Amino acid sequence: MSASAGPHKAFPQSPRPMAPEALLDAGERERIRAKSALFSPPDATLADGRRELVGMPRERIAAEMVAIGEKPFRAKQLWHWIYHQGVTDFAAMNTIAKPLQARLAENFVIGRPGVAEEQISTDGTRKWLFEYRDGQKVETVYIPDHDRGALCISTQIGCTLSCTFCHTGTQKLVRNLGVAEIVGQFMAARDAYGEWPTPKGGSGDKDAGEDGRRLSNIVVMGMGEPLYNYENIAAALTIIMDHEGIALSRRRITLSTSGVVPMMDLCGQELGVNLAVSLHATNDALRDEIVPLNRKYPIAELLAACRRYPGASNARRITFEYVMLRGVNDSIGEAHELVRLLEGIPAKVNLIPFNPWPGSPYKTSTPEALRGFAEVLNAAGYSSPIRRPRGRDILAACGQLKTESERRRAGQA
Ligand code: SAH
Ligand code: SF4
Repeated sequence: MSASAGPHKAFPQSPRPMAPEALLDAGERERIRAKSALFSPPDATLADGRRELVGMPRERIAAEMVAIGEKPFRAKQLWHWIYHQGVTDFAAMNTIAKPLQARLAENFVIGRPGVAEEQISTDGTRKWLFEYRDGQKVETVYIPDHDRGALCISTQIGCTLSCTFCHTGTQKLVRNLGVAEIVGQFMAARDAYGEWPTPKGGSGDKDAGEDGRRLSNIVVMGMGEPLYNYENIAAALTIIMDHEGIALSRRRITLSTSGVVPMMDLCGQELGVNLAVSLHATNDALRDEIVPLNRKYPIAELLAACRRYPGASNARRITFEYVMLRGVNDSIGEAHELVRLLEGIPAKVNLIPFNPWPGSPYKTSTPEALRGFAEVLNAAGYSSPIRRPRGRDILAACGQLKTESERRRAGQA
């Protein structure tokens, strides 16, 4: 089994209790995992036999050290160099003697995705087209905001779901990204902004240390449905949150899902990151059409999963994303219906003006419709910022990401 696709059980937080209703979904979760495994990334070993250290769980690095005749504590040193210092060259690890540096370099690599293309929007948004070892590509976007900013990372190449307003949804799922490929997006962005090493003391749950950094937050809102690649995204976020490495607080990470109900419980229990849910419609007939996953997990089930999401509270609200499509889902009546649906959920609403892409079938709601909709939500006590479109000119805004990567013919994949 490859390091990047391997199972990973050591999560940093003590698991939160799972609600009894959620436990009933165990069989469904197994089916989802089995399906996800069909789209596994390639093995994280190079053709010359060297193994990728990025993405390996700590215990696995320790086992690798033992396998080359070293003491397991070397794993702690390596972890520090890789994830705290951001070093990619063994020769720079000055707490490790030269002969061992050489032996490590013979056996391992510390890689980054290749940069196939990079664009900067007039508003400062920056988009990378990253290329992995098998030539497949994804997009990652950095959205600056004063003295901070969020990196929008991708989890799959393409998507199995085909939400009608989403450009990624027009690209078939090519494959899942592996742990190294997901963590690598963040590490490469940190390289680009020169933000190594991790600030002193990391952030941990105290949430200090990231202030003033450009890469202060992560949103898992790029290409793909993260909860259909759960093993890899969970292992990747676990590495990113590790206190002795990148140490980004779970409070600074938001994962967006189109509503994979059985995996939402697991995400809350094991990772405890902020949750964003792509709702986009207030009745099943419309949501069936624009977010086809709704046929499997309808609105009532989705909202029930939100109500029991571990850790959701007034201080940590669930974000409901609502893409405003002109004349489709943006009436005042629907705004009232949304208020009714969200009753009792610690929620905030993100109204996203539809971002067009070549050949897209919708129009952005008018400013009046946006304002009217937001007013109803605000009057009901919901904070409902209208998300200013960012990076539209370089097709970097929500839902505009798509790459040329294609699924190779059977036998080659
Ligand atoms: N697959 C996940 C995360 C990626 S999409 C999900 O669907 O939640 C991130 C957000 O962008 C989602 O809320 C998605 O519905 C929204 N989105 C997709 N296409 C869009 C578009 N063209 N304009 C505005 N938002 C869009
Ligand atoms: Fe996939 Fe999310 Fe786009 Fe829907 S909105 S097609 S789930 S990436």
